[in-house]
Amino acid sequence: LMASSIDDKTEVRDYFNTEGFNRWNKIYSESDEVNSVQLDIRTGHDQTIQKILNWVEADGNIKGKTVCDCGCGVGSLAIPLAQMGAKINASDISDSMAGEAARRAKELGIRNAKFYTSDLESVKGKYNTVTCVDVAIHYPSDKMGEMIQHLCGLADDRLIISFAPKTWYYVFLKKIGELFPGPSKTTRAYLHEESFVRDQLKAAGFEIAREEMTATNFYFSRLLEAKRIK
Ligand code: SAM
Repeated sequence: LMASSIDDKTEVRDYFNTEGFNRWNKIYSESDEVNSVQLDIRTGHDQTIQKILNWVEADGNIKGKTVCDCGCGVGSLAIPLAQMGAKINASDISDSMAGEAARRAKELGIRNAKFYTSDLESVKGKYNTVTCVDVAIHYPSDKMGEMIQHLCGLADDRLIISFAPKTWYYVFLKKIGELFPGPSKTTRAYLHEESFVRDQLKAAGFEIAREEMTATNFYFSRLLEAKRIK
């Protein structure tokens, strides 16, 4: 069990430092060097990010608040949150991803965001908001509970987390995908039982405040905002 989760992590890190970086850096940009599947994923991911930004905007109080973005990728969420005045602590297991996020932020003249390389298990501190978007897909089910507990421990006020829900339809799609993996190497993908995620949040003393679901043809992501019960 232990060995397999270490392998998972090493595999994810290596992938996002090499081929995965090239692939996802293109998806998470305006580059037109993407195929139709990648374009569909870009659209879905953009929608998830926009939904979070809409929540934050509706609250209207992010300025000066601390946000810890775990598995920040190239900064798709962290950068706009920084532009809205939040103090950002953003990290990613991949040096290439965190480096690209830092580069993009610098190019935009952002000074209230720090980007660094770290797996999320090693992230420390206390933040008003913790975000972890589309990262759980890389977590095997037996590691998911621990991961959620750790993220909740970092969050004073709320956790915003997304994951691919384990429904019969997505399990079916994933099987099809595994039968026809295509030319590009990817990592294993894990779907999660929504009831399990909700139970874990509840056990950590959080309650769901808002929720969203985003689904395109090849992208699906359940988004939850959980607030600490005070
Ligand atoms: N959250 C970003 C976004 O929504 O734009 C990136 C999403 S991308 C699909 C998944 C990211 O999670 C990758 O950048 C990957 O390197 C990172 N990741 C995977 N496992 C991680 C871990 N254990 N700790 C930190 N980052 C991790």
